Amino acid sequence: MKTFKIGGVHPSENKFSANAPIRKAGLPKQAVFSLYQHIGAPAKPVVAKGDVVKVGTVLAEADGFVSVPVHSSVSGKVNKIDAVVDASGYRRPAIFVDVEGDDWEESIDRTPDLVTLAQRPDLTAEEIVKRVKACGIVGMGGATFPCHVKLTPPKGTKAECVIINAVECEPYLTADHRLMLEKPDEILVGVTLIMKAVGVDKGYIGIENNKPDAIALLTEKAKAYPGIEVVPLRVKYPQGGEKQLIAAITGREVPAPPALPIHVGAVVQNVGTTFAIYEAVMKSKPLFERVITVTGKDVKTPSNFLARIGTPMAQLIEECGGLPEATGKVIGGGPMMGKALMNLDVPVCKGSSGLLLMTEKESRRGEPQPCIRCGKCVGACPMGLEPYLLATASALRKWDLAEEHDITSCIECGSCQYTCPSMRPMLDNIRMGKTTVMALVRARNAK
Ligand code: SF4
Ligand code: SF4
Repeated sequence: MKTFKIGGVHPSENKFSANAPIRKAGLPKQAVFSLYQHIGAPAKPVVAKGDVVKVGTVLAEADGFVSVPVHSSVSGKVNKIDAVVDASGYRRPAIFVDVEGDDWEESIDRTPDLVTLAQRPDLTAEEIVKRVKACGIVGMGGATFPCHVKLTPPKGTKAECVIINAVECEPYLTADHRLMLEKPDEILVGVTLIMKAVGVDKGYIGIENNKPDAIALLTEKAKAYPGIEVVPLRVKYPQGGEKQLIAAITGREVPAPPALPIHVGAVVQNVGTTFAIYEAVMKSKPLFERVITVTGKDVKTPSNFLARIGTPMAQLIEECGGLPEATGKVIGGGPMMGKALMNLDVPVCKGSSGLLLMTEKESRRGEPQPCIRCGKCVGACPMGLEPYLLATASALRKWDLAEEHDITSCIECGSCQYTCPSMRPMLDNIRMGKTTVMALVRARNAK
């Protein structure tokens, strides 16, 4: 069975919510929409205090090519445009909407009927990309890169295949797994739309073999969709990294930045994003709700919610039975790449794949010890880097050394830290070093 070759680790899976069907989260009393829910220029508000909005109304429009609009997930009245501390921990401008009823824009097709590409022969590649942008679709695996940009390969490049990232390799998270079991046809139509948008006739769906039910279901269903192949993958973290997934499925290696997956002919989209593309193009439904896993060892009812964007995380925790007494940390995302939340009022955003309530014991970090030069972090790094060196160079602010040793290639997967017997806080240091080096490189290139 296929997997990527360099590095990787095997953390405990702890997929407690794998058998929990997706259920609708309750409507919040007030929904909060950050204007920074994607990579690129923040969205520009087009509403003002007192405006009445419906579910699906545009609240803020895209500001440039690498930007997307933000739509309301609720009906009600705009209370204010202010700031909110979002999952990144920064205060961001945001639109606050007081919820009244649940009145949807009429343009949205709310029927459960499947619409296939064969039923819409009029759809052109340009139309698909246009609709994806208008509906505010971003990478929903956590990257939040505007989807229409990925569907527009730069001049001089040519897509050869589409790869759907259905790996969900982060421990604990099960949102993508449940979506595959509950919306397989919609996902497959989504793949055909992406294939048409980038002009290829081959699509792969990469799924790790800890989800045999999803592999079996999609393999069976894919028989009706020519050119789409389900590829079972041997479990290894971080197989959901774009470069690792491309290597696992095609055997091709994406060169170091600034090279992109498209430079080896691949267009990669997350499976949740693929479903959102289906809804955007075939159902005229903007991205205003998503599936999010809320879980943890002490959580009473680990769950997969279909939650409206802007819902406070605290509400989802309540719907799972409340915050367990011995909670040490609440993490936005999974345990490997997620970030601790500053408070529980952080709203669900387009990139919110999970909420992990870590016990006190799990979240306690051991006292860092000196590096014993065991080399385990080097063996674990899926990018072939020297994490001990990058972490030390970052901590000592030796930016030249960090750059020379390719810190910008780090995908922040945390495998080095996970494997370190000396409990060194490598990821924190490397993240800080990478951000600094990238800013220095940008400043140098701008001169
Ligand atoms: S966080 Fe970066 S340095 Fe550490 S293992 Fe992952 S890619 Fe390598
Ligand atoms: S795994 Fe930890 S102790 Fe071993 S070489 Fe890397 S930093 Fe040092």
